[in-house]
Amino acid sequence: MTNLRIGHGYDVHRLTEGRRLVLGGVDIPWDRGLLGHSDADVLTHAVMDALCGAAKLGDIGKLFPDSDPRYAGISSLELLGQVAALLKAGGWSVVNIDATLIAQAPRVGPYRGQMESNLAAVLGVEADRVNVKATTEEHLGFTGDGSGMAAHAVALLERIS
Ligand code: MG
Repeated sequence: MTNLRIGHGYDVHRLTEGRRLVLGGVDIPWDRGLLGHSDADVLTHAVMDALCGAAKLGDIGKLFPDSDPRYAGISSLELLGQVAALLKAGGWSVVNIDATLIAQAPRVGPYRGQMESNLAAVLGVEADRVNVKATTEEHLGFTGDGSGMAAHAVALLERIS
C-alpha cells in the first residue's frame, strides 16, 4: 500500500470595491479586492481544500465555518497554519502543491515567488514544493469579465508517521 494521497481544491470569490486583494498571502495593490468572511484569499483557500481533501479532513467550510465570528477578516495564511497543524497531527507531510489562479487582471506574475514562499513557509516545507501559476480566461465567463477570481489546487501528501 502506498502512503501517498492526492487532493483537489477549488474556490471562487467575487471582486468588489473597497476590499484588499490578498492572494497567497500577498497584498496586491489594485482598485478592487475579493469579498469574503476572511481575507478571501481565493488561492490559499483552494490550497487548503486540496490539503484537506488529501488528508480526509473534509473541507475548509467545515473546519472554518463562515458563520463563526472568530474567522471574520482573518488572514487565510493563519487558517493554513491551522490546517498544517492538523496535517502534522495526522502524520502527513506535504510532498508538493500545484495551484492555478484564474484572474483576468491584475497581472500577478511579479508576486508568484512571494506567494509560493508564503505558502511553503506556513506549511514548513521548502519553497520548491509549492508551485503557483496564473492564467486569464480570455475575457470569458465571470473570471474573464472581472466579476470574480477562481483558483484550483492539487496537493500530494505522504504519511510519514
Ligand atoms: Mg473561499
